[in-house]
Amino acid sequence: MKETKSTCPYCGVGCGVIIRSEGEQITGVRGDPDHPANFGRLCTKGSTLHLTASAEVTLHTRLLHPMRREHRGQRPTRVGWDNALDFAVESFHQVIQEHGPDAVGFYISGQLLTEDYYVFNSWPRASSAPTTSTPTRAFA
Ligand code: SF4
Repeated sequence: MKETKSTCPYCGVGCGVIIRSEGEQITGVRGDPDHPANFGRLCTKGSTLHLTASAEVTLHTRLLHPMRREHRGQRPTRVGWDNALDFAVESFHQVIQEHGPDAVGFYISGQLLTEDYYVFNSWPRASSAPTTSTPTRAFA
C-alpha cells in the first residue's frame, strides 16, 4: 500500500487528504492530520472522495483523452484536442445563438488556480454567457 498527500478538489476549503493506493488503483482516503485547513477531519464529500476513483467507475466513466460521438446513441470515437476544442467552441456558440446566454453556464471546481478562474470567468463575459459557479458558492 502506498500513501500520497494531496488536496481535496471539491471546495475552496482545500482540506489535506492522504490517498491510499495499491499499484495504479486508489483504495481509500483519510484526512491529513498535519494539514492546517482540516487537521485530519473531512466532510462527507471528502471522506468518500476515493469512491470516484474506484475500479468500476474508472473503467466505465473516466475519459483518458477526448472522445466524440457524431450522433446520440453512437459509440464515441477518439479525437484530437484541436478537434475537441473546436467542436466545443462551435457547440457553445450554437447554443447561445439559439437559446440565449442564460442557456450556458459553468459549474467548476473550487480548487482551480487563479489562472483557471480567469479563463472561466473571462470566457462567459466575452460570450455574453454570464453564469459561472463553484461548489464553494453552491454550498454557501
Ligand atoms: S469538500 Fe469537504 S473535505 Fe473537501 S475541501 Fe471541502 S470541506 Fe474539505
